[in-house]
Amino acid sequence: MSLSQLAKSISESPTLKLNETAALLRDKGEPVIHLGGGEPKSKAPIDAIVGCTALLRTGDVKYTPADGIPALKKAIIRYTEEHYSRTVLPDNVIASSGAKQSIMVLLHAILDPKEEVVYPAPYWVSYPEMVKIAGGVPVAVTAADGGFQPTVDEMAQACGPYTKAIILNSPNNPTGAIYTDDFVAGVVELCEKKNLYLIMDDTYNRLIFDGRIPGNCYRFAKDSNIENSKLVVINCVSKMYAMTGFRIGWTIGPKDLIRAMTNIQSQETSGPAAPSQWAAVGALTGVQSSIESLRLTLENNRNIMMTRLDAFSGVKTVKPGGTFYCFPDFSAYEKDSQKLSRMLLDKVRVVTIPGKEFGMEGHLRLSFCGTPKEVTEGIERMKWALDPNAPNELFLGNHRLLRDAL
Ligand code: PMP
Repeated sequence: MSLSQLAKSISESPTLKLNETAALLRDKGEPVIHLGGGEPKSKAPIDAIVGCTALLRTGDVKYTPADGIPALKKAIIRYTEEHYSRTVLPDNVIASSGAKQSIMVLLHAILDPKEEVVYPAPYWVSYPEMVKIAGGVPVAVTAADGGFQPTVDEMAQACGPYTKAIILNSPNNPTGAIYTDDFVAGVVELCEKKNLYLIMDDTYNRLIFDGRIPGNCYRFAKDSNIENSKLVVINCVSKMYAMTGFRIGWTIGPKDLIRAMTNIQSQETSGPAAPSQWAAVGALTGVQSSIESLRLTLENNRNIMMTRLDAFSGVKTVKPGGTFYCFPDFSAYEKDSQKLSRMLLDKVRVVTIPGKEFGMEGHLRLSFCGTPKEVTEGIERMKWALDPNAPNELFLGNHRLLRDAL
């Protein structure tokens, strides 16, 4: 078949692919434990459902403005005031079909062919492919100390004449790490000095633990006037309100940029689906307790996962400060993360995501967005498969496995 160079260069999202594999195995009755998931188990807030169904009941579901309905923009402006202490205008806001589309349209609006986008490794799987789709060149920066946060100097060294933007995602998918204030402040300063866009992907901003306060990059900007800044903030209802299926994300930035993004989006998809936008209005303006309840559930699950992993000899783990991901180092058992992930699925039916997909070999991304039972049992199975000190016997559903018999 004749396909474009671009199509041939873009790979499938490994996380979505593993979701499909897990679903297929489950349909066949296999006792799969999914530690690869990327969405909370909880239900959408009732105010989101009420907002959405109110529109559906009218039967009058039509196109919306390409940058989103005024009610959603108003709710996003209020959210920005409350959580970022920034007053922005409707012209500074565009709603899109999920944060994925927000980032994609943004990259299309800022990148010329071959311009580079720099981001720290480990990174969210989609950044390299998204940059390539927009005609740019992805540049990942790996910390020399092997940790999850490079130094500002390392970021600066990766920036050259073709660099157009830096992306930071904190708390981070896949590590759960929250970048230090010093690092974020340093990168804000670096972007100001070099006249680069700084894209803050705040998808997990509210899902943080240990009493921490959500980060606010604007605090570090030299100029508080949004029109004089290339600081762009991405957010969405997907994770914090457990509304991944509604597909609503948004971008806050200077109005010329937002206008350019709106033009692109208007040709590409038009405005996001109207029922989803009204659901997002409901979530953003309704009772907010679901976020705290999800946050507490995730913190509890994080603690359970940490306790289990700490008892797993040879596995090195950094405690995640937020999100619902943990990124332990399994290289003592197997350096090839794809091989390890495949073996865990085949042998003990646990879905994990290979670290290689996030730019760091030897690690696996494990999600703790499931139930405490799934977290506990998932790690127990992994331990059985890898750790010679683990108990000899394991039950997979009704099936009894003995390591000695293997
Ligand atoms: N950024 C990051 C870091 C993510 O993890 C995700 C979702 N996995 C997104 C953006 C995209 O979110 P959405 O579902 O709203 O498109």
